[in-house]
Amino acid sequence: MTVRLYNTLSRAKETFQSIRPNEVGLYTCGPTVYNYAHIGNLRTYLFEDILKRTLTYSGYAVKHVMNITDVGHLTGDRDMGEDKLEKGARREGKSAWDIAAAYTQAFQKDLERLNILAPSIWCKATDTIPEQIALIQILEEKGFTYRTGDGIYFDTARFPKYTQLSHQNLDALQEGARVEKNPEKRNATDFALWKFSPAGVQRQMEWDSPWGVGFPGWHIECSAMSMKYLGDQLDIHCGGTDHIDVHHTNEMAQSEAATGKPFFNVWMHGAFLIISGGKKMAKSDGNFLTLENAFLKKDIDPLAYRYATFLTHYRKPMEYSEDAMTAAQNGLQHLRNQVRTLKEDVAPAERETGAINDRFREKFRREINDDLNMPRAMAVVQELLKSELAAADKLATLYDFDRVMGFGLAQVDQEESLPEDIRKMADDRLKARAAKNWALSDELRDAIQERGYIVQDTSQGTKVFKP
Ligand code: AMP
Ligand code: ZN
Repeated sequence: MTVRLYNTLSRAKETFQSIRPNEVGLYTCGPTVYNYAHIGNLRTYLFEDILKRTLTYSGYAVKHVMNITDVGHLTGDRDMGEDKLEKGARREGKSAWDIAAAYTQAFQKDLERLNILAPSIWCKATDTIPEQIALIQILEEKGFTYRTGDGIYFDTARFPKYTQLSHQNLDALQEGARVEKNPEKRNATDFALWKFSPAGVQRQMEWDSPWGVGFPGWHIECSAMSMKYLGDQLDIHCGGTDHIDVHHTNEMAQSEAATGKPFFNVWMHGAFLIISGGKKMAKSDGNFLTLENAFLKKDIDPLAYRYATFLTHYRKPMEYSEDAMTAAQNGLQHLRNQVRTLKEDVAPAERETGAINDRFREKFRREINDDLNMPRAMAVVQELLKSELAAADKLATLYDFDRVMGFGLAQVDQEESLPEDIRKMADDRLKARAAKNWALSDELRDAIQERGYIVQDTSQGTKVFKP
């Protein structure tokens, strides 16, 4: 069955065609590791995880590369401002290297908590400086660069297809850029390939280069790394929608200028997580929500966030609210409880004999293969649960879907199987908590405990079990 994906480049849903049969080269822009990832960033990584799982489910071998931006991403747009890593280091009184290592680890932990599959290759900007320098040299030889007092820049006027991805109006951009503070730039859209360390200042992260001591501009790392690891199999490149106008546009311009060939065939972008009032969640705001403070500290299972993001299509903005997360927690808990019931209904000997139901599988596939329509795929899951299918077949079909959903349903603990009335009370208690009806929730907890069960609200959700 074919997979259709929305390509930002053509502004249309297209039938996906990999460069090599049954293999996909996937590059996803990774985090700038000067702070924790916020749950907006994580929404984008969840969308990319669904993309990867969908391609795998459809039979492709996916080679996935994700970079870690540990240098060169400046606080201001258009190459002004400070390096975010150096700034983060000053804020925390640590070295830029330590900051990068600590937040990389925190990021990888977040991915694990969300059951996001690790990329085939992790790569760091600071580990690929020679490749970035080599790419800038090619651009220099081909006449795409010029030198200013603070760095080597890419001359976007030399690349006529500059707006192919963004469809921006360059005249309006030039006009708006009159207030720009860098008078040496020839065009407002020109961007730094290499920045010089400021005179008299020793940066924590700096390297020798043919142009002087300094550090790479942000965009060049993704071009260098994607080509290093994916070669000429540049199938799909992803990120959040904020990357379209600047980061991805610049990656594409410098890569195509250097190779003379098209860069990635398909560009996919996930819409923002917004907070009430429609504002985008952003790291620079300081009050962003992390997995730690919005989920773990509130005893909400991080996988409830995974569940919540499935209820909005990845190309539509998703609004965060605590209530929506609690509802998602209940939805996930309910799904797990149904898996437990199904497990109880199936004798252990029959568990291996359940068959994946073709009709439901086709329905599920149709939705995920239609530009990753997870809201509709989740509706198919509900339909399956309500169907008359034999328990063993339901379970087998659910486990098959879980290759894409990624909830770890096969690991749902059967030990927690409960008598029907206790489960009902536990479900009612969850609903009471969601409605912030604490009195009812306490009453139900006492009732469950009177029956000899323990009720424990943990970061993995509520557990009810026999001591
Ligand atoms: P950064 O660490 O800032 O480079 O961002 C990492 C990823 O998160 C990028 O793909 C961004 O496009 C994406 N991103 C940033 N803010 C949001 C948001 N509010 N919602 C969804 N994705 C976002
Ligand atoms: Zn990138």
